[in-house]
This record gives sequence, structure tokens and C-alpha cells, in this order.
Amino acid sequence: MIKEQYFTKIVNSLSTGVALQDRNLQVLYCNEKAYTTIGLTESQLLGKTPYDPDWQCIHEDGSPFLGEDRPSVRALKEGVPIRDVIMGVMKPDKTFTWVSVNSEPIYETNTAMPDYVVTSFVDITPLKNKERALKESNEELERFAYVASHDLQEPLRKINTFLSLFISKNEKNIDEKGMTFLSKVTDSTHRMNNLINDLLEFSRSNNIKGKLEDVDCNAKINYIRDSYNLSPNDRKVIIHSEDLPMVKGYKTQLLALFQNMINNGIKYNQSEVAEIRIKCQKREKDYLFSIQDNGIGMEEEDFQKIFLPFHRLHGRSEYAGSGIGLATCKKIVEKHNGEIWLTSKVGEGTTFFFTLPVD
Ligand code: ADP
Repeated sequence: MIKEQYFTKIVNSLSTGVALQDRNLQVLYCNEKAYTTIGLTESQLLGKTPYDPDWQCIHEDGSPFLGEDRPSVRALKEGVPIRDVIMGVMKPDKTFTWVSVNSEPIYETNTAMPDYVVTSFVDITPLKNKERALKESNEELERFAYVASHDLQEPLRKINTFLSLFISKNEKNIDEKGMTFLSKVTDSTHRMNNLINDLLEFSRSNNIKGKLEDVDCNAKINYIRDSYNLSPNDRKVIIHSEDLPMVKGYKTQLLALFQNMINNGIKYNQSEVAEIRIKCQKREKDYLFSIQDNGIGMEEEDFQKIFLPFHRLHGRSEYAGSGIGLATCKKIVEKHNGEIWLTSKVGEGTTFFFTLPVD
């Protein structure tokens, strides 16, 4: 049997805080790491319960973590281990320590209710601080991308207007070479316009606001199919789709998601008839959508890269585009708490998969 003095040394050497509470949730024992993490002395922590008014905790979104929701209280009430709960614990200096908490019930007697609860917690404050700094810098970058692309529209509009005016007024006096130069300038301004619009669309997908709505995926696909059928197109396109579900999401974003994937399946495609097959399978926690094409496919080493902004596998002379579409799709899916990935073989086509949560 291990001697008690060794046991105390072992527990005090842990980098994890440990506390034992009785049935009344009073702290009976805690190791050194427990009280140093929370910023209290041992005597201040002993005897406390989660209902103590000056033991304030918060959730990650900043809302109060009420006594009855705390892991030790739930472990005692529910009689099962409660794991990986993130809590912000207010220290006496009013700053918060972030901890990841596990609470386990202990049954000493043969009763339905546990006799004790042992709680262990790891200080994750440095990790949380880095996460916050990263979030802030991402938000700043997103704001920058939005403002930059938004403000670039105005001078570009002016360039386009004056360029068309200049051409229409001087058409007769400009020689063939001059016209070729001017048409190259016009092409470049159109391309820049498309880039700016795509960049704006990408920034907007970072910043989706508003409420989740019921979105009828069949209606979105029908809309895209109709717009293909109506627009003059030199190639034959068939969009097959199964009966798709109603999902909770952001309408405009989900339409953009389907549109980007279908457009790509048609664009990166040299088959005589471009065929797109859209399916959906309901799983336990999510819907798994697949969008398959009979296009040119790609190498496995490119599967991750294509989701990066501006990353393209082909030159503009082969296929037009700005390389923002899939980065936008990834953002949209992630904003819906889903995942996106693909399988593909060169010459055999590509299937994109993404998940959306079941309501
Ligand atoms: P864009 O189409 O404007 O280039 P995307 O972000 O939509 O931008 O796509 C990035 C790159 O991924 C494309 O340039 C293309 O090389 C490749 N790609 C996307 N979809 C497909 C597809 N269905 N089949 C083959 N290649 C694809």
C-alpha cells in the first residue's frame, strides 16, 4: 500500500488541479495546483461549494456558468462522469482563469447517489489567450479584405466609365494597334472587377449575419438548373438531383455554395455532356451531401490546396476564374458547422462532399 505522505506528494506534484467534494458539494480536499490555478489559498478553497456567490464562473461566450450546470454538480446529480467542460473561473483579482474540467462521481456506499465527486482541471488560459489573439487577427484581416475590396470598386468603376467614353469619342482616330491596347486594358479592368466581386463575396462569407432559416435544398437546385436551361449555352448540361432535405442555414450562402460547386463541375469538364449528380444522405448528426461531376478531375496532392483563396490548378487561358470559389464554399460550410472535402481522379471526375447539421 502506498504511504499517505507519498500519495500527498504525488498529488501535489501534478500539473492538474484536483479537488474532492462531498455530497453537499463542499470541497474536502484539493491539491496545490487546484488553489494556485484558481488564485485562492487552500483554506479559502476548502469548504466552498459551487453555489458560493463569490465563486463566479463563465461560459466561453461570456454568459454566467450557473451553479447547477457546473461539472461537479452534474456528476453528483446524474451519477456519471462529466468530461471536457470549458469554464472561465474568476480569480480574486477579477481576471479569469480558463480551465478544462472533468468530474467523476465516487460511490463508497451502495447508494443510488454518489458519496463524493472528484474534479480535475487543467489550466488552458495560455491556449485561450492565443485563440483569442488569432481570432482578433483573423477578424482584422477579414475587415481589411472587405474594406479594401469594397473601396477598390469605386476607382475601378471610374476607370471603366472614362475608358468607354474615351473609346466611343475617339474610335475613328485610334489605329488598330491602339484599339488592341485599349481592348487589353478593358479586359484587365473586367478581370479586376470579377476579382474584387469574388473577394467581396469571400469576405461576406466570413461575416454571415442574421438568423438561420429553413432552406429548401430542392428549390435551390431547381433555381440553378433553370438558370442553366435559360441561359444560352454552347454545351449540354444535365443536373440530376435526388430528393434533398430542408436544412437550417443561411439561404443566400447555401445557394452560393451549391452554385459554386455546380458551376465548377460544369466548367472543369470536357465531356460532351456535363453531368452533375447531387445526393444527400441523412446520418445520425448531419446530412452528407455529395456533388459529383464527370469532369477533368485532379491529382490527390491538390485536394487541400484548392480550398485556399486564389489557388488555381489551371491558367486563365484554359479556364476562367479567380480561385476564390472553393475558399468561399469552405467558409460557408464551416459557418454552418460542417466539413467539406473531395475525392477525384484525373480524367474520371470529382465528387465534393460536405456536411450540414441535422436540425
Ligand atoms: P476558380 O474556379 O475561380 O478557379 P475555385 O476556388 O472554385 O476557383 O477552384 C479552385 C481550383 O480548383 C480551380 O481553379 C480548379 O483548378 C480546381 N477545381 C475546382 N473545382 C473543380 C472540379 N469540379 N474539377 C476539377 N477541378 C476543379
